[in-house]
Amino acid sequence: MKLRTILGHERAVERLRRAVAEHHVPSAFLFLGPEGVGKRALADALAARLLCAAPDEDDACGACPQCTRVLGGTHPDVHIVARDEDRRDIRIEQVRELTRWLTLQPLMATRKVAIIDGAHELNEHGQNALLRTLEEPPPGCHIVLLAPAASLLLPTVRSRCQLLRLDRLAPATVARVLVARGLPAERAQLVAELAEGSPGRALLLDGDEAVQTRARVLDALLHLGSRSAAEISEVAQDLARGPLDLALTISLAFYRDALELALAPDSTPPRTADGSPAVRMPATARLRQLEAVCDTIDALGQNANRVLALETMLLVLRNIERGGADREDRRSWTSRP
Ligand SMILES: [Zn+2]
Repeated sequence: MKLRTILGHERAVERLRRAVAEHHVPSAFLFLGPEGVGKRALADALAARLLCAAPDEDDACGACPQCTRVLGGTHPDVHIVARDEDRRDIRIEQVRELTRWLTLQPLMATRKVAIIDGAHELNEHGQNALLRTLEEPPPGCHIVLLAPAASLLLPTVRSRCQLLRLDRLAPATVARVLVARGLPAERAQLVAELAEGSPGRALLLDGDEAVQTRARVLDALLHLGSRSAAEISEVAQDLARGPLDLALTISLAFYRDALELALAPDSTPPRTADGSPAVRMPATARLRQLEAVCDTIDALGQNANRVLALETMLLVLRNIERGGADREDRRSWTSRP
């Protein structure tokens, strides 16, 4: 992975390339961004660039023994720290091991790069154990911490790192990333729209079940206004049998787009192809619908009954839709182009 092959995060890539070219790469970086947005790919590309034996136009060559090893995950001067699957946190022993590793001379390259993938999974002890290293890393060492949000780390850790934010990607860019990974274009388009700007999330969503769930949820939401209570109960039972988290994520995205449309009627929100609401409603009504979905997610987090929670949500959504639409000016009933 080279910096210039990273899709989407142009500003971040440019900043890294400049930093390397000007020999101003900080010893501690903190890459922030949603899960699956591409933090790790960027950190790997930075490691390749830093260790490459024959860099080319401010980027790794991708072909020298250093690059090949970084790409293959076998470079002795790159150290990855991540939580073991069966653990809740990154073990303190892993931090100690990292600290020891950093004090050793590089074996193959002239520098060393450590990547803490999921720095927010360091507990307080782990983060404290890292402070000294972050403050005074051995010369030629770079540590890259990856986390979804700065607030998940201790202020003392945050303040010792240079921050680099990765924004969510536009659905079209997510689709390009997926196509580059071998997904057929049509499929990539479909999951990209669901992925909340994160290629990693899109890959998780890539499956027949996800595609079917999306179709069922959109069908339910688009026809809510005309459904009877009995029909809504049936829809709730049907959806509750499938992946409920996904159904709620899709509902959230749907109402967020609907809200966006209400706030900026001329804008073209993402997911218009088949997911956009046919009716325009006031933003306040859309906001209440969004709240209803959030309340349901909270309730389910506290072990509410799945069918009941979903049924209640759909009824609330329908009532808001009917009330909100009734209050609307006739002009606003126009279908979307
Ligand atoms: Zn190289």
